[in-house]
This record gives sequence, C-alpha cells and structure tokens, in this order.
Amino acid sequence: MEAFRNRPLFPIKRDAYETDAQRPIVPVGLWEKCPQCQTIIYSKSLGKAKVCPHCGYNFRITAYDRLNLIIDEGTFYEWNAVMPAENPLDFPGYDEKLLDAKGRTGLDEAVITGTAAIDRKRIALCVMDSNFIMASVGKVVGEKITQAFERATEEQLPIIVFTASGGARMQEGIMSLMQMAKVSIAVSNHSHAGLLYIAVLTDPTTGGVTASFATQGDIILAEASSTVGFAGKRVIEQTIKAKLPEGFQTAEKVMQNGFIDKIVIRKDLRKTLQHILALHDPEEMGDEK
Ligand SMILES: [Zn+2]
Repeated sequence: MEAFRNRPLFPIKRDAYETDAQRPIVPVGLWEKCPQCQTIIYSKSLGKAKVCPHCGYNFRITAYDRLNLIIDEGTFYEWNAVMPAENPLDFPGYDEKLLDAKGRTGLDEAVITGTAAIDRKRIALCVMDSNFIMASVGKVVGEKITQAFERATEEQLPIIVFTASGGARMQEGIMSLMQMAKVSIAVSNHSHAGLLYIAVLTDPTTGGVTASFATQGDIILAEASSTVGFAGKRVIEQTIKAKLPEGFQTAEKVMQNGFIDKIVIRKDLRKTLQHILALHDPEEMGDEK
C-alpha cells in the first residue's frame, strides 16, 4: 500500500524519449490551465462560454466569441469596421506591434462596435478585446466608442459596452489620454437623451477605461473574479510601501465598495441583459405581470 502511495503520478520520465519522433504529439490549445484553481482542463470541456467546470473561472474570450454568447444570431451589423490606427508619434516598433496584433486576432483594432439585437430588442454595443495590445485605448478605439455612443443617441438606442483594457495606449502618448474625455462627453450626451447605458466590466478592466466610461454606466455589471482597478497592484504597493489586502481589485471587492451594481456569471449574462433591457423598454412598461 505504502509503495503504491509513493508511486509517482506520472511514471514516465522526461528523458524517456530518445528522439523527438517518439514524443507524443499534443496539439496546441488542446489543454488549458485554469489560472484560478490551477486544474488542467480539456479545452472542449470549457464550452462555448469558456468557463472552468471546476471553479467557474471565466477565461478571457475574444470579442466575436462574446458577441456569439450575447446577441441574437445573425443580427450584428458592424460600424466603422475599417478605421486604421496611425502612429502619431512615430513611436518605434508601434507599426509592427499593430500589424502583429491584427494578424493574431483578425481584428482591425481593440474594439468592435455596431448594432445587434438581444431578444429581438435592438441595441448599440461596443466589445473590447484584450487579445489586441491588451485592449489599450488609442485614438481609433476612443473614436469608435465615441461614434457608437453618438449613433446610439441619434437612433435612440440603449448601449452596452463590454470593457476589457490595460488602460491608455502609451505608444500614442497624450492622444490616448484625450480619449477619456472625448468618450465621456459622448456618454453624457447619450445619458441626457434619456437613454440607457449598461457597462459590463470583464477581466481586466483597468487604467483610463476604469477612470472613464467603464464606471459611467447607468447600470454597471461585472463578470465574476474580473480584475477591476486603476493602477496596477504592484505599482500601488511600491508607492505606498505596504501590502494590499487579499482580493484587492477584484470585481467582488469593488462591488463591496459600491462601484459595481451586480456580479454576473457568464452563462447568466445574456438573460440578465435581456431582463434589464426589458425593464427599461418604454414599450414594455406596464406589461409586467
Ligand atoms: Zn478553475
């Protein structure tokens, strides 16, 4: 019994294969490690929503995967699909970085915007994708989100923004910081027109995005265990020379402090949005049974 217990879990030694040809071929992306519970998971068992079956951790998903989970099939109409980013400061390596991000993600920039339907209700939406230069906000991302709010105001549409961002895009310097004010004005005009804005904070929502449109929603939802904050944890610890408490900058902690209205599990997100949209639909007022 004792001998059995001491038997190594993986009896094959790493040097058991003399040549590469003998090594078993494991296709890339077949297995994923959950960053929360550390379990190695067969990728397919994560499902379309990419949620850890053991601990419920929400893996980061692409903007198009997000759309597929939320909207009615075949209803997405993209706005400003082509709006190429420039390199206003001639920042070294930035053009190459953009090209690489485009190639890897198939996206033109870190956000897609447009109109779609959720349960047959037309909405405007912006979906940020952290796979594209950590969804940092440069001139084009700011402009696309601003125009989405302007168009939603014109067309009297509610808007949903899925935020995910590392903050401002440093390669565009001051131009990227100016986007915070620009988007905020468009958000304010949309709000003054009496229209609904739902912000959905996903992992990670940080920096200038948290400091502007992510926290300006009429209703602010967040996906469970998302990182939500302004400056990075390490930067704060080094500045104040103190250890930060457990759970600092998680959506749950931010909600305890009153900045988030509800934490939503990814599989319930569409239903929750559907419900909020119905509650705010003038045509459905009085229909509640
Ligand atoms: Zn897990």
